[in-house]
Amino acid sequence: MMSNDIERISFSADEIRMRVQELGAEIARDYRDDPEPIYCVGILKGAAVFFTDLVRAIDHPVAFDFMIVSSYGEATVSSGQVKLLKDLDFSIEGKHVIIVEDIIDSGTTMHYLKQMLKGRHPKSIKICAFLSKPSRRVAPVEIDYLGHEVPDDFLVGYGLDYAEKYRNLPYIGVLKRSVYE
Ligand code: 5GP
Ligand code: MG
Ligand code: MG
Repeated sequence: MMSNDIERISFSADEIRMRVQELGAEIARDYRDDPEPIYCVGILKGAAVFFTDLVRAIDHPVAFDFMIVSSYGEATVSSGQVKLLKDLDFSIEGKHVIIVEDIIDSGTTMHYLKQMLKGRHPKSIKICAFLSKPSRRVAPVEIDYLGHEVPDDFLVGYGLDYAEKYRNLPYIGVLKRSVYE
């Protein structure tokens, strides 16, 4: 069983659901005076699960797009390099963009992505992340909408993987060290 590999649960499915509803409501409130769609950019694959929950919690028109970036490979620590594997399908010029990410760790990925997308002249650009590990930050990142701050543990579930496994766990938990050491 997958749950045998989990040391402890950080956020239950219910806790996640409640926080995502709050984030969605906060976003809808912030954009309510502008009828234009919010262009939500999900960073695959990790943010896929959070993304689909979040957009359904936003009571405002939303457009979807996705990017694939890679910095981790199969290790549990970032290589510090960001590779763009799939770009956006559409132009974001003049649009309200929110980048949706599962977790911000060193900040390398998000710092790179925000700079790159800013250069395409969106009307506004914000960052929404479900989790953040501030103690690990190397590159500066301002998170506009954050689910939870977490300590420096390796987490899996709710989209987060270890070697492509555990993404479909409905909760977020700390992976036992014995699994990857
Ligand atoms: P950063 O560039 O901020 O160091 O790393 C961002 C990416 O690293 C995240 O989007 C995520 O894919 C991965 N990552 C960072 N911390 C964790 C973690 O605790 N667990 C998992 N599974 N992935 C993580
Ligand atoms: Mg990610
Ligand atoms: Mg990963």
